[in-house]
Amino acid sequence: MPILVLKFGGTSVGSVDLIKSAAKIIKNEYDAGANIAVAVSAMSGTTNSLIKNIDLISSKDDAEYDSIVASGEQVAAGLMALALQELNIPARSWLGWQLPIYTSGTHRYATISKIESKNILEGFKKKEVAVVAGFQGISLDGRITTIGRGGTDNTAVFLASAINAERCDIYTDVDGVYTADPRIVDNVKRLDKVSYEEMIEMASQGAKVLQTTSVESAINHNVKLQVRSTFDPDNKGTLISEDIQSNEQHAVTGVAYSKDEAKITIINLLDKPGIAATIFKSLSAKDINVDMIVQNNFIDRKVTNLTFTVPVIELKKSLDIIDDLKNSISFESIISEDNLSKVSIIGAGMRNQPGIAAKMFECLSQNNINIEVISTSEIKISVLIDRAKTEKAVKALHHIFELDKL
Ligand code: ASP
Ligand code: MG
Repeated sequence: MPILVLKFGGTSVGSVDLIKSAAKIIKNEYDAGANIAVAVSAMSGTTNSLIKNIDLISSKDDAEYDSIVASGEQVAAGLMALALQELNIPARSWLGWQLPIYTSGTHRYATISKIESKNILEGFKKKEVAVVAGFQGISLDGRITTIGRGGTDNTAVFLASAINAERCDIYTDVDGVYTADPRIVDNVKRLDKVSYEEMIEMASQGAKVLQTTSVESAINHNVKLQVRSTFDPDNKGTLISEDIQSNEQHAVTGVAYSKDEAKITIINLLDKPGIAATIFKSLSAKDINVDMIVQNNFIDRKVTNLTFTVPVIELKKSLDIIDDLKNSISFESIISEDNLSKVSIIGAGMRNQPGIAAKMFECLSQNNINIEVISTSEIKISVLIDRAKTEKAVKALHHIFELDKL
């Protein structure tokens, strides 16, 4: 009997009616003979409103934050179990501490270390569907933890690995992964298949369909993901898995963007070993995620300019941290910009096709878009540009790389 994990995101369980429709999707798979574990997010809006209440009192205690925000998934899991029972399907909800889902690391950003599968497998013997509350787990000392916003994707992947599911279906409000954001580009194409590595780049470069860590977990545990729409369940959506041939004709398969980029440049920074380490260690100690990094080395000079990007909401905090370093590292001044976007082209086929970067830069220049910073990986090229030109850049790149013809 096949084992499946079905994940429903917040918008898929956003109301009681939607929970009832999701239960029907589960019923279809159940009636076809599968053993099923479901991972649910909180009803859309719930987590944000819980966080708002926390912020109105105090944001000082992350352990209490976790115990409060985890409640959203508890409600959704219980309601889903009831909806399934009403369809005559035996179902039981499971919270992180009940399975348990063991986590390590700090509150708010804990990582799943292991999901105990015993309770779920016992339930399967009774033909029972397990409805697991996403996003939560327990720490070694038994407190409730959460695993970062959007974490239910990751719960679903770990669940699939723990019970050896043959597939993990991610039900969401879009019917798959697209060549670009459909809200910006008219003639986007849905991709039937995407490789893990392309999906990681797309997710981390701004495509919102899956949480980046969940794709990394899917690689580590070799879990096949299928992104599908709750509102169009017959549609097969996009398969994300390992062995997908890269597209020979199309080196580029997606354009992604993120609008919340800020750039910091440290001017005339003393150029000697250990300085960059000091700066980036101080930033990471305060949980600041640095993305693009560029350092210009001047020949025969003892100083350098160091440029890097951080999320715009972390700009002030980052500037304060660097300012505090003034006595331990020597530099002349800091400048920053907070009105930038990062636009990226992604494709596994890029690896063995030359000229992709040149084509991208030429396209941007023809559209009068200035490039501030460039960064690349084997299968991705990202540029930092003026935020006001984001849409123009995404459209132009989608067109020049003929993604509408995929
Ligand atoms: N409810 C959590 C959030 O809104 C987790 C999730 O949706 O996956 O981030
Ligand atoms: Mg969510």
